[in-house]
Amino acid sequence: MKQIFRTQIFFLFSLFIEGLVFSQPALKIVQPYENANLMYVTQSFVFGSVSPATATLFINGTSVVPYTNGGFLTMIPFQEGRFKIEAVASDGVSISTVTRFVNVAEATRPFPQNSSEIQVISPPNRIVLRGEDILNVACKGAPQGTAFFKFKEKGGHYPMVEVSPGLYRGVYKIQPEDNFDYDDVIFFLRRADGRKISKRAKAEIVVQKRRTPRFVELSEDATLLTGPGSEYGYNLFLLKGVRLEVTGEYGDYVRVDLDSGNTGWLARSTLRELPPGTPPAKSVSRNIRIQTTEGSTVLELPLSYVHAHRVDEFVNPYRMELTLFGVVADTDRIHFIAKDSIIKEIYWKQFLPESFTLVIITDQSYPWGYEVRYEGTKLILELRHRPRWEHSKTAPLRGLKIAVDAGHSTGSYGTIGPLGNTEASVNLLVAKAVEERLKNLGASVVMTQDGTKDPFSLQSRIDLAWKEKANIFVSIHSDACAEGENPREVEGFSVHYYNVGGELLGEILRDDYGKKSGIRDQGLWRSNLAVCRATTMPSILFEQGFLILPEFEERFLKKDHQQMVAHVVGESIVEFMKRTQSK
Ligand SMILES: [Zn+2]
Repeated sequence: MKQIFRTQIFFLFSLFIEGLVFSQPALKIVQPYENANLMYVTQSFVFGSVSPATATLFINGTSVVPYTNGGFLTMIPFQEGRFKIEAVASDGVSISTVTRFVNVAEATRPFPQNSSEIQVISPPNRIVLRGEDILNVACKGAPQGTAFFKFKEKGGHYPMVEVSPGLYRGVYKIQPEDNFDYDDVIFFLRRADGRKISKRAKAEIVVQKRRTPRFVELSEDATLLTGPGSEYGYNLFLLKGVRLEVTGEYGDYVRVDLDSGNTGWLARSTLRELPPGTPPAKSVSRNIRIQTTEGSTVLELPLSYVHAHRVDEFVNPYRMELTLFGVVADTDRIHFIAKDSIIKEIYWKQFLPESFTLVIITDQSYPWGYEVRYEGTKLILELRHRPRWEHSKTAPLRGLKIAVDAGHSTGSYGTIGPLGNTEASVNLLVAKAVEERLKNLGASVVMTQDGTKDPFSLQSRIDLAWKEKANIFVSIHSDACAEGENPREVEGFSVHYYNVGGELLGEILRDDYGKKSGIRDQGLWRSNLAVCRATTMPSILFEQGFLILPEFEERFLKKDHQQMVAHVVGESIVEFMKRTQSK
C-alpha cells in the first residue's frame, strides 16, 4: 500500500514539475562494455547508474537495489558465446531498457570420445635446442586414448602420458649425436574405441651444434624473463648494448646464458644478431673509483663491454650486492676520492669464472635507491644518500622532495566507477590533496602529471622522479577486480612495493590507512610493478579501494576522504623518516 501511494505522488509530481520530458529513468550500463570479449565466466559483475536512485531495477530479471547516488553493481549469471545483458528500470511511471551484448569465451572442455581431431599445444612453430636439452611436446585429443609421438626424419616412437582428460604430454632429451634439420613432430593417438588418428605438427626443430657460438646484442633496454613468453616473470632488467650468447629458441623468444648457472629468455624483437665470429663480451674489472655528488655516492668501474647485472639489497646496515655477468675480477685498487661517501666497506667475490659480485656495505641503515647506468662501457653505480632530515614540529617534511604520481592518464584511464568517474580523474583528485598536505608539512612536491599529459608512460613517470631527484615516490590508484570475481568478496585497499626501500613505508601506510579509513585491508604486497621496481628512491603504489563499487566511488569523490588519504600519506612519511633515522 505504502509503495503504491508513493508511486502515485511521484507520478503527479513528475507530470506537474517536469512535464513529460524527464519522466523516463536515465539508465546506463558502464561495464561490461558493448562487445567486450570476456574470458570464460559463469557469473560476473555488471555496473552502471540509474536516476532517480529510487527506481526499481532489474538486470536479466534479477532485482538490484541502486545505491543512494544511483550507482549499482550486481553479480549475475553469464553464459558462453554472444551474451545479452538487459537492464530494465522503472520509476513507477515509465520504463527504460538498456541492452548490452558481450562475447564470453567458451569453456575448455575435453574433446569428445569420438573426436578425430588432434590439437597441437607444443612445440611452437620454431624451436632451437642444444644437446641435453629437454623437448616438451603436448597435444589434445579424445580422452582415455594411448598417445605417442615421433620425429619426421628420425626413427623411434616416444610415449606420451594423459595428464588430464584429453591432454597428452611427452618429453624427449636431445642426444649428442642427434641431427635435426627443421624436423617436424608427428602425433599418434589410439582412441578408446581402437581407432587411430595422427597429425603432423610443423615444428621446425633445429639442434644447434655450432662451432662458432652465436651472440646477440640488446637493441633496447629489455626484461630478461624466466620463460619463453610474456606470461613468465621478470628475472632481470638488462640495459641496451648487453651482449649474450644464444643457447636456444622457442617461438618468438630466445634463450641466453648469463653464466654457467643462469639463463633467461628475451623477446626476439629486442635483439640484434651479431655476425658469426663475434667474440663473447668479457671484461676485467680493474680499479674502482668512488666519489660523491649532491646526495649520492657514485662508483665508477671501467669495463670493456656493457654487461648484464643483478642487484640485491639488504637493510641494517644497508648492503648492496652488484653482480656483473661476464666480468672477471682483477681489482687491485679502490680509490676513494671523497671522504663523505656512504660506503664503509667494499669487497668482491668471484663465485663463478664468469660472474663477479661487488659487495658494498654502507653506514646507512636503510636504502634510498640507486641507479645503474653506463657511460660508453664505463659502469656507473649511483647510490643515493638518505636525505638530510631533522624532525621539526612545524615542518616535519622540510628538506624532502616527494614525487606524487596520480595513476593513469586521460586516454588510458584505468578502471571506472558506476557513475562513470574514471580512475585517472579520481586518482588525480586524491593526488592533489596529497600534494597540498605534503607542502603544508614542508616538503617540496613533484607531481608526475596534472591530468593533461596523455599518453604518459610509466617510464616517463620514473624518469621524471629521477631527474627531479625526488627522495620518495608514492603512486595513487583505485582498484577493480577481474571479470568473474565478485567485487564484494575481494574489495579492499592494498599497498605495493618492490625494492626493500619501499617496504617499511608501505607497512606504516597500510597500518595507518587501515585504521583511519575502515576499508578492508587486502595487505602489503611485494609486487613486480614498474613504478615500484624501476624507481630510484623508496617507492610504493597505493590502491585506495574499489572504485567499481558505488559507495566507494561516492566516497573517493568527497573532500574529506581525499584529505584523510592526504593526512595518512603525510603522517606515514614522517613516521618513515623517524624510523629510518637511527643507524
Ligand atoms: Zn590503477
